[in-house]
Amino acid sequence: MGLKTAAQYIESLRDGRETYWGGERIADVTTHPRFRVPLDVAARDYRHDSAERRARMTYTAEDGSAAHRIFQIPRSEQDLWSRIAMMRELSIVGGVSSVYMALMSVVEQVRKVNPQYAANIETMYRQARDNDLRAAEVITDAKGDRKRRAHEQDDPDLYVRIVERRNDGIVVRGAKLHITAASLIHELVVMPTKGMRQDETDYAVSFSVPVNAPGVKVINRSFAASELNAFDYPASAHHSMPEGFVVFDDVFVPWERVFLAGEVPLATVFAQSLGLWERTGSVVEAVKMSEIFVGLAQLVTEQQGKERDPVAQNTISELIAYAETLRMSLDYACRHFQTTPSGMVHPNILAINVAKYHYAANFHAAVRGLHDLGGGLVLTLPLEADLRSGVTGDLLRKYLHTKPDVDVETRMRVYNLIRDMTADAYGGWHQVVALQAGGGLNAQRIMMHRAYDMATARERALSAAGARPATTH
Ligand SMILES: Cc1cc2nc3c(=O)[nH]c(=O)nc-3n(C[C@H](O)[C@H](O)[C@H](O)COP(=O)(O)OP(=O)(O)OC[C@H]3O[C@@H](n4cnc5c(N)ncnc54)[C@H](O)[C@@H]3O)c2cc1C
Repeated sequence: MGLKTAAQYIESLRDGRETYWGGERIADVTTHPRFRVPLDVAARDYRHDSAERRARMTYTAEDGSAAHRIFQIPRSEQDLWSRIAMMRELSIVGGVSSVYMALMSVVEQVRKVNPQYAANIETMYRQARDNDLRAAEVITDAKGDRKRRAHEQDDPDLYVRIVERRNDGIVVRGAKLHITAASLIHELVVMPTKGMRQDETDYAVSFSVPVNAPGVKVINRSFAASELNAFDYPASAHHSMPEGFVVFDDVFVPWERVFLAGEVPLATVFAQSLGLWERTGSVVEAVKMSEIFVGLAQLVTEQQGKERDPVAQNTISELIAYAETLRMSLDYACRHFQTTPSGMVHPNILAINVAKYHYAANFHAAVRGLHDLGGGLVLTLPLEADLRSGVTGDLLRKYLHTKPDVDVETRMRVYNLIRDMTADAYGGWHQVVALQAGGGLNAQRIMMHRAYDMATARERALSAAGARPATTH
C-alpha cells in the first residue's frame, strides 16, 4: 500500500499477462529488450528523488497517506495548476492514468442511475490510488463499417459487448485498438467509444480489469526500434511507448468491477468524460513541444547565419504564434475552470477543445515551417558514428562548419532533434497522434459546437443586424 518504488512497479508487471510483439509471446515484459525503453519511461513516474520533485508529483490523500498526484481530484484552481505542473513531467503512462479523473468526474451522474456502479468507481479509484497503480484508457473500438451501428456490423464483436450476464458478473468480448501503454499498466479501464441506442444495450458497457485477467490479449506495436542511439535519436531513444491492440476474448468481469452494463444513456456520459482529460494531456504536451519547435527554429536559423533574414523571422514568428496560442489557451482553460456537481474542478471544456483543435489542425503547418528553415540536412545528416570516426569525423567537421561560434556537434544535435521529432519514425507517429489521439478533429468540432454559448452569439448577431435592440457587453 502507498507509493510504489520504481523497482516495485517493475516487479508488479510480472503477473503472467498475455502480451505479444511481432508474433512473439512475451514471457516477461520487464526483461524483454522491446520493452526496455518504454519500461524506463513508465518507471520514471515512480521516482521521486528530490524533495522538490516529491512535492510536485505527490500529495497527501484524504486519509493522510502519500499518493501520486495523478489521483488528486482537483478542488480548486490551485489544485488544477498543481496538476498541470505534474503533467508537464509525467510520462504518457501516468498521463493515460487520468482515466480515473474521467471516471470520478461522472460519478454523481452514474450514482443517479445506479448507486452500485458509482460505488464501484469509487472503490476502484481508491484501490488504484492506494496501490499506486496505472491504468490505460480503453475506449476506441475496432468499429468495422463506420456507417453502421454497433449491433448492425457483420461481426457483432466489432464493438466490445456483453456476451453473458451471470449472478457474479458479466462476460465481455471484442477488441479495443490503439491502447497506449496497455502492456505496461495494471488496469484496463474500458468505456464505450460513443453513445449507444436502446437496441445496443450490450454495447453500453464500462468496467476495469487487470491486464492479466484470463482472456485479455495485448498485441503491441511501436514506432521505435528497441535500441536507438540517443545522439541520432534524441527524442525517441527516451520516449517510445507501445500502443496495444487489446482483445477481450470472453473475459469475466465481477460485478464489483462493472461501471455500466446496459444503461444506454450513460454511454455518452462516459465517452465524453474521457475526452476532456485526454485532450488536456494532449494540450499540455503540445505546449511543451511547440516551445521546443520555436527553440529549434531559432537555433537552426542562427546556425546557418540566417537570423536577420526576414523570411526566416516570419516563419519563426508563425511558430511563436502557434506556441503562444496553445500556452494561452491552456492558461485560459485553467483560469476559467468548471466544477462538477461533486465539486471536482476541471479545465474549461470549450477552451480545451479549442486548444486541442488548434494544436491538431495547425501541427502539420508548424512542422512544415521547421522543415522549410532546416533544409535537407533534416533528413540526410550522417550518423554519430561518422562524427566519432577519424576520416569521416574530420570531413563532417569541415563541411558542416557554418561560422566560428557554431559547434558542429551542437548543430548535428539540433538537426537530429528536428528529424526525430518531425520527420523520422517518432516524427511520423507524431503526425498522426496530433490528429487522432484524444479523438480526431471532428470529435473536437462536435464538442466546440456543443459547449459554445450560441444563444449569446445569435442574439449579438441579431442586434448587429438591427433585428433586435442593441445589447451592451
Ligand atoms: C498513437 C495513438 C494512440 C492512441 N491511444 C489511444 C488510447 O490510449 N486509448 C484509446 O481508446 N484510443 C487511443 N487512440 C485512438 C484514437 O482516439 C482514435 O484513433 C481516434 O478517435 C480516431 O478513431 P479511429 O482511429 O477508429 O478512426 P476512424 O473513426 O475511422 O476515423 C478516421 C476518420 O474517419 C472519420 N469518420 C469516422 N466515422 C465516420 C462516419 N461514420 N462517417 C464519416 N466519417 C467518419 C473521422 O472523423 C476521421 O476523420 C490512439 C490513437 C493513436 C493514433
